[in-house]
Amino acid sequence: MNILLLGSGGREHALAWKLAQSPSCKRLIAAPGNPGITQCAETAGLDTTDHDACIRFCRAQTIDLVVIGPEAPLVDGLGDSLRGAGIGVFGPSKAAAQLEGSKGFTKDLCARAGIPTGAYVRTRSLDEARATLTRFDAPYVLKADGLAAGKGVVIADTIESAEIALADMFSGQFGDAGAEVVIEQFLEGEEASFFALTDGEAILPFGTAQDHKRVGEGDVGPNTGGMGAYSPAPVLTPELQQRAMDEIIRPTVETMRAEGMPYSGVLYAGLMLTQDGPQLIEYNCRFGDPECQVLMLRLESDLAELMMACAKGQLAGQSAEFSDETALTVVMAAEGYPGTPSKGGVIDLGDAEKRGAKVFHAGTAHQGSDLVACGGRVLSVTATGANVTAAQRAAYEAVDAVSFESGFCRRDIGWREVGRESR
Ligand code: ATP
Repeated sequence: MNILLLGSGGREHALAWKLAQSPSCKRLIAAPGNPGITQCAETAGLDTTDHDACIRFCRAQTIDLVVIGPEAPLVDGLGDSLRGAGIGVFGPSKAAAQLEGSKGFTKDLCARAGIPTGAYVRTRSLDEARATLTRFDAPYVLKADGLAAGKGVVIADTIESAEIALADMFSGQFGDAGAEVVIEQFLEGEEASFFALTDGEAILPFGTAQDHKRVGEGDVGPNTGGMGAYSPAPVLTPELQQRAMDEIIRPTVETMRAEGMPYSGVLYAGLMLTQDGPQLIEYNCRFGDPECQVLMLRLESDLAELMMACAKGQLAGQSAEFSDETALTVVMAAEGYPGTPSKGGVIDLGDAEKRGAKVFHAGTAHQGSDLVACGGRVLSVTATGANVTAAQRAAYEAVDAVSFESGFCRRDIGWREVGRESR
């Protein structure tokens, strides 16, 4: 089959790397791709907001399957346009992508389907939100309803700071995404990610991971897109995974289908493992970045076949095999990230890959004969090992082989699990 992969991050490099290994993948084109992706795919320029141009491109290149990496084109309905033109798509429809695109939508769905999640109220004005705060205890969890690039969630320790944050959110800083704010109960526990593939009916568990969102070691400082991750997440025991499937994923897929919005693609559940069991914090309608990198390093099944099965509604009877090893990825970012990252730092990957690691590119570019940084998150250095401790050691050996002017990374990815393994 001919596959078009949309996106340019570390997630898409990992997907391209895995898709290119698939015997059923005849031709792989990535748009726009990145310098790492050029090692395993052709690349092309394509404006994903221009749906007609995407359809024309797919027809001209006889594309059988489009894999949509990031959330924005999904929430914008690119999947519907392509499907309407008879092109196979891995990724949900616009209606189904509301699971990520509207936090209020997802909370209401949880309420209708009896899915465990924190109590919540949807508010549509600053006055309403202020009055609602008094019904919750600190810390206050405030979420802009729509997509806000990971910046739309505030956890405020006091009612005063919550009111300031609400005023900011309703001031229009997030545009339409902040027209509504969900206020929800603070959940105590450890976070973990659970992935499932679905064609709208059949569901295949697709691995677990834990990531590190904060920029600083010890999980402090501002939020980022993710500074590292590992898979599997031992904290999600087989029993908890079964509960996540039975109590969260399956009722979601069944309710979406029953309500005429069948969800197909990858469903990524952000879970809080509370004393009462797993509760849903959020859904994402695409793979996580960098969680995708660690999942792809462990995946042993044919990714192109699985994605096509999701697109065609033929997932029943398929299986997804993962290696028992742990994969761990360390994100190398450009100085300044998650603020304004410095551009142009020269990168030399040295013998990182000869040491057994896989280096996925994100914000890299070619400048003459140099490879340079051109974004916030620049590389995902990913390695495997028998457990998190071994995978961490292998990943940092590879990180140390990379020279990256004005780059930085956290040195403690996996710390929580490494601590548990040493006990
Ligand atoms: P992402 O960048 O992961 O897509 P997002 O902007 O969609 O994030 P959420 O995942 O809903 O937002 O929340 C961001 C983070 O805030 C969570 O990873 C979690 O650490 C924290 N958080 C969110 N909701 C709660 C809650 N109800 N109780 C405790 N912590 C929460």
